Amino acid sequence: MATRTVCPAGKKALMWFFISTLIFTTSFFSGSVLGFSSELWLLTYWGPALYFCLLAFILRYCYTGFFYEVSIRSAFLGLTFSLGIFLASFDNGWRVFGLYTIILSFFHFSEFVSVALTNPRTLTVNSFILNHSIQYGVAAVASWIEWGVEYYFYPEMKTYFWVSYCGVVMCIAGEIFRKAAMFTAKTNFNHTVQFVKRPDHELVTHGVYSICRHPSYVGWFYWSIGTQITLLNPICVIIYAVASWMFFRERVYAEELTLLTFFGPQYVEYQKKVGTGLPFIMGYIPENTGQQIRDDHWSY
Ligand code: SAH
Repeated sequence: MATRTVCPAGKKALMWFFISTLIFTTSFFSGSVLGFSSELWLLTYWGPALYFCLLAFILRYCYTGFFYEVSIRSAFLGLTFSLGIFLASFDNGWRVFGLYTIILSFFHFSEFVSVALTNPRTLTVNSFILNHSIQYGVAAVASWIEWGVEYYFYPEMKTYFWVSYCGVVMCIAGEIFRKAAMFTAKTNFNHTVQFVKRPDHELVTHGVYSICRHPSYVGWFYWSIGTQITLLNPICVIIYAVASWMFFRERVYAEELTLLTFFGPQYVEYQKKVGTGLPFIMGYIPENTGQQIRDDHWSY
């Protein structure tokens, strides 16, 4: 099976995510199953925190360096994933926050595992993309604040569950499309745009890359909007759509500039046949900028 081809760090990530999910899901639900008496309330809400300290201690004892960094992050994402499952069982606005937490935890964990499976050479702790950028962090916190303020003042606003489920479907579709891109491009995929062409870098035009030129960005774009529909956050839906669109417009432009230097006319042909996949984003089209494309022009 696939686990045989997973690199050691990928195996550690899978193992600790699952162990952590098992421990914390049991821990969160045990309180609600047993009833919320005052001591059990303590068990439900402080139990997981204590278990996490214990788990962190065990991991610190078992591993050092990279393996520790990977295991502690995976265990933490298992904790937040379990918290999401617990909250999603509520019958009020916390349910949508739980669904969002599940989506967010799974996304960051699956990014790491996908890189471990498709391109282990590039695997680092950054493959979790938990520290994507300051803007990404600020956007996440802003969405929690919007959810919190609206839930506090208009709790019924967060109970349009069917709208939230549409957001969940959008996130699942975006996630699948992104991962399909990673598994199609394999070693040609990279979390950081490459400015120097490696000798084995090949232009990928098959599979999801025959539908659009930037399937992983398309997936991430709709996933990010989907998270805000899941949270039933009207303000952040708009902010996320605009911010993601601007981010990907810049990113695609810079990336295509490098892809044109890497693959020259081959990439120009690809651009003619296949669109970017992102609404109103053209990418870097040489004709529009008056650049000449010649075979000998692109190799350096
Ligand atoms: N933009 C693509 C890939 C993102 S990963 C997508 O959305 O799926 C970023 C890296 O992919 C960059 O370093 C770039 O050089 C490489 N890349 C982008 N499109 C590619 C393609 N069609 N074939 C090969 N490499 C590609």
